[in-house]
Amino acid sequence: METSENDADKTEGLAATEPVNYLQLGGSLLIVLLIGTNLLTWAYYRNEARTAASATVSPMAAPPTAPRPSQRPEAMLAVNEAPQKTDYAITNAHDHLYMLKHLDKYMKAAKEFGIERTVFVASSEFTFLGTKGDMTKLNDWSTREILKAAKKYPGKIIPFATLHPDDPDKVALLKEYVAEGVMGLKLYTGHSNFHDRSLDVPEMDPVYAYCAETGLPLLWHVNMAKYTKELFQVLDKYPNLTVIIPHLGVGFWRPDGQVMGEVEHMLATYPNTYVDTSFGTREILVGGLEKVTAYTDIFKDFYEKHQDRIVWGTDMVVTGNKEKTEAWVKSVIRACRDLHEKDVYTFWMAAEGSGYAYGRGDNTYGTLRGLNLPDDILKKIYETNMDKVLASVDKK
Ligand SMILES: [Zn+2]
Repeated sequence: METSENDADKTEGLAATEPVNYLQLGGSLLIVLLIGTNLLTWAYYRNEARTAASATVSPMAAPPTAPRPSQRPEAMLAVNEAPQKTDYAITNAHDHLYMLKHLDKYMKAAKEFGIERTVFVASSEFTFLGTKGDMTKLNDWSTREILKAAKKYPGKIIPFATLHPDDPDKVALLKEYVAEGVMGLKLYTGHSNFHDRSLDVPEMDPVYAYCAETGLPLLWHVNMAKYTKELFQVLDKYPNLTVIIPHLGVGFWRPDGQVMGEVEHMLATYPNTYVDTSFGTREILVGGLEKVTAYTDIFKDFYEKHQDRIVWGTDMVVTGNKEKTEAWVKSVIRACRDLHEKDVYTFWMAAEGSGYAYGRGDNTYGTLRGLNLPDDILKKIYETNMDKVLASVDKK
């Protein structure tokens, strides 16, 4: 496999979540118009949120000596040292690791920020290379790489395998992985770039049946704007299947929209379903954090209502990309925690000049609004909900 690891993950965000792909795939004027309208709506709400934030929180977070926003995370970390809440023994329910040699910087950062355990999911070449990658390649290699990582840090890494629907003998392979220590399965089949057949195709039945029978949790990227019906068909057939849908079902882009309604319906209807809080890397991460900033109350209500079914994850995709230093990893973990723990926080990637902020140009310090969740809810999304997800596999 030819993978130039330094720029390996330039586009993995596209693989990790969806909306930006419309630009790549589409070229349709309508979509461009829709995005334009969205941006206008977003800018409107954001302005509202900023006004609201400055009215209730004074002053807006930035210390007088804050470095210029274009500075790198090393500098931004230094001004963002306000302590986080009580120490938690956090389980990071969703991240990717490319190669074993990229692991140590993550583990150091994780330790410093209270992460006790991390689910690393195996990924295809596509996730690491974006549109240049192949969706059927690397799955087995990646699963074995993550198993090696789990052996290097026993108890600290929870390995999830991945499969492609066209793989032969999928259940036999899965059994082999489980015998080697795999504790869950990641499927990408509900991602619009991967979706080439319905989610309830017969060739996947034995896999779902096996997971339902053994309690092996399934972290399943399903774009609930598109494939909810197919997902529900599988869930109806396998009510014991434990499923985590990442990125709030990819509904976070429209916190007050129909997709979030579907997510709520799923959580209300299927007791073994969960969602994770990750957004994706860089632009998608910043996009998600900006959504929370603009719609804080809606997100707070969602967390309050579904506090037993939400697990915390970072989905930063740990690779050898030059930008992804230990300080970078720390800054992402911090932002993903601050989002839940603080009223107001700063994140360098959201700042003017970082290159990742959607609202380019007017967020000097990358100031964002967080959810400031109470301790008992934090404990659930950081610790106990994921314990429940892993309970059946933990027993073995
Ligand atoms: Zn992911």
